[in-house]
Amino acid sequence: LDNILEIKNLHVHYVTEDSEIKAVNGVNLAIKKGDSLGLVGETGAGKTTTALSIIQLIPDPPGIIVEGEILFNGKNLIHNTEKENKQLRGNGISMIFQDSMTALNPIMRVGDQLAEVVITHTKVSKAEAKRQVIDLLETVGVKADRYNDYPHQFSGGMKQRVLITMALLCNPELLIADEPTTALDVTIQAQVLELIKQLRKKYNMSMILISHDLGVVAETCDRVAIIYAGEIVEIGTVEEVYTNPKHPYTRGLFESIPKLEEDQSRLFQIEGTMASPASLPKGCYFHPRCKYKADICETISPGMQGEEHLSKCHFSLRDEVLA
Ligand code: SF4
Repeated sequence: LDNILEIKNLHVHYVTEDSEIKAVNGVNLAIKKGDSLGLVGETGAGKTTTALSIIQLIPDPPGIIVEGEILFNGKNLIHNTEKENKQLRGNGISMIFQDSMTALNPIMRVGDQLAEVVITHTKVSKAEAKRQVIDLLETVGVKADRYNDYPHQFSGGMKQRVLITMALLCNPELLIADEPTTALDVTIQAQVLELIKQLRKKYNMSMILISHDLGVVAETCDRVAIIYAGEIVEIGTVEEVYTNPKHPYTRGLFESIPKLEEDQSRLFQIEGTMASPASLPKGCYFHPRCKYKADICETISPGMQGEEHLSKCHFSLRDEVLA
């Protein structure tokens, strides 16, 4: 099997008494073993919902996987039992969450929390678990003598290293990192990204990195998928997408990145706001904001076009239209 993960036509909704939020609307993705994919989009585009679906943590209710398949090493996770899901999260897929404050227990020593993860999943002795934790903490740059410290004694960057340790303790084949450096200042952010990159190589893990930051993805990933209103609108290698973005939304994202030499007051921003997942427009979901839209865009949803570098736009292959 070449692909460690394959998502086919995934639809995830959040249904309450008076609304139906269509958070993910037909996502297709494949990740090869050892590959890293950046998933880029604005807040509310469906990044985290896609990630939570993969790791089988969609809160149900109100979340429902309405349709689709999530194949991990060829097995569809959607039909997993709770026991199988625990195993999956124990040694198949790990997730680093954005908010380290909620991931760590504030009244428990950090080392003990990490050792507990090892003991739960591998049934080794307490002494052996402690040895493994200290080894890994040192690998991620946390000194052994911090084993007995509490979470509040760690800085933001160090706490993120602890969370990375927690994710790696289970020896995952696939690591999902959800905005792992957003809360950190720029220097620390660069160090943590470098660490993630090194560890991924060392342990030969596949990775999905969720971010709203194109720069972070360029630094860390081989491929990139751009998500808008719950759909992947463009996917390809970082090199192809960054040098030749085909979808108008992707082009808008690149044009929105501030450049040092430019007058910031004249910064291009994509006009309008993202379509509400509670009332998506007909046709192309991006059409209310798209400066290239034609009549067809208001009624017919475009298919994915291209082979290795794909874009979901009626005109994505016709550069003269998007010039
Ligand atoms: Fe714009 Fe039409 Fe392409 Fe949608 S399909 S991105 S509205 S040009």
